[in-house]
Amino acid sequence: MSDKRDYYDILGVSKNADEAELKKAYRKLAMKYHPDRNPDNKDAESKFKEANEAYEILSDKEKRSLYDQFGHAGVNQNAGGGGFSGGAGFGGFEDIINEMFGGGFGGFSSSSRRNGPRKGNDVRADITLTFEEAVFGCEKEIEFYRTEECPTCGGEGAEPGSKTTTCTKCGGSGELRYSQRSLFGESISVKKCDVCQGKGKVFENPCHTCKGKGKVKKKKTIKVNIPAGVYNGAQLTLRGESDLGTKGGPRGDVYVVIRVLSHKIFKRDGEDIFLDIDITFAQAVLGAEITVPTLDGKVSYKITPGTPSGKTFRLKGKGVPNLNAYGRGDQYVKVNIVVPKNLNGKQKEELRKYALTMGEDLSKVGGKDKGILNKLKDGLKK
Ligand SMILES: [Zn+2]
Ligand SMILES: [Zn+2]
Repeated sequence: MSDKRDYYDILGVSKNADEAELKKAYRKLAMKYHPDRNPDNKDAESKFKEANEAYEILSDKEKRSLYDQFGHAGVNQNAGGGGFSGGAGFGGFEDIINEMFGGGFGGFSSSSRRNGPRKGNDVRADITLTFEEAVFGCEKEIEFYRTEECPTCGGEGAEPGSKTTTCTKCGGSGELRYSQRSLFGESISVKKCDVCQGKGKVFENPCHTCKGKGKVKKKKTIKVNIPAGVYNGAQLTLRGESDLGTKGGPRGDVYVVIRVLSHKIFKRDGEDIFLDIDITFAQAVLGAEITVPTLDGKVSYKITPGTPSGKTFRLKGKGVPNLNAYGRGDQYVKVNIVVPKNLNGKQKEELRKYALTMGEDLSKVGGKDKGILNKLKDGLKK
């Protein structure tokens, strides 16, 4: 995986490149590195292949979105023995080649495998979870569209009762073969039959429901068990739940991308939970039994006398369950001493008395507020 270059880098376009930019960039590279122009040049050959692959993925909306999300891992499951997967984007690629080189292009094409079983397209589904749902796990329904066999024609593609004949151009194989000379010597180039679009059959009346494709898009709902401890950005793969394959190939996969909402008071880092809690000056000085919210409900905790502001204590096992193992993380609680504002006269007086007992220079405490200071002095004289 890691030795694969980024597809955008290969084509030299930005992540936001539109279809026209992609096509232009690809065309430039294909012209430059095409094997007919670079006979016996292995470097050009591999660059040509690389550009083909990048264009194949990025020119296909669905594949591009998967690639943006998951990188190479998201688009290479069905690559088979390497090279092209021969997917939906292939048509665009071949069109360009034909446009540039007058068709009959062979050599690198994997189209000889085109008529074999092929896995269906992958789809992506997003789920948003609350903080607690992610922590403790839950069951969620996802909805997405996938291809199903057409109910009208049973996947045949022909309007029921209408005539279906074997394609005369390809003889029913769905493929057209050309013998061709290239830098590899004599080679057989295989193309999809343009008359029957690779089906090998020609319909008198294509099915009105699926327009002859044999497949229709339908909404599908699946219940997904979300394991405890999932995190924001986590991905679950539901194998074989997506689009139908072709020629007996398996269905594609559904990628479930998880988004976790933030919490009002808790912060999460991996399996640990972090919480800031306010205590009063008196509680910090004298110690106290305080109530601390946790994911499992409230617990009480004893603050030791003389607790400084910013001190953090740990509640063992009150964190997030480990996604792949037993046990839970911890909760860390940071103590924040709240400094009271707007004390009334009586309270201020008491505080000054306290400061005096601590040997503080009262002329420097609350310096600007002379009125109160004088009153206090008067009070002490009496
Ligand atoms: Zn149909
Ligand atoms: Zn045909």
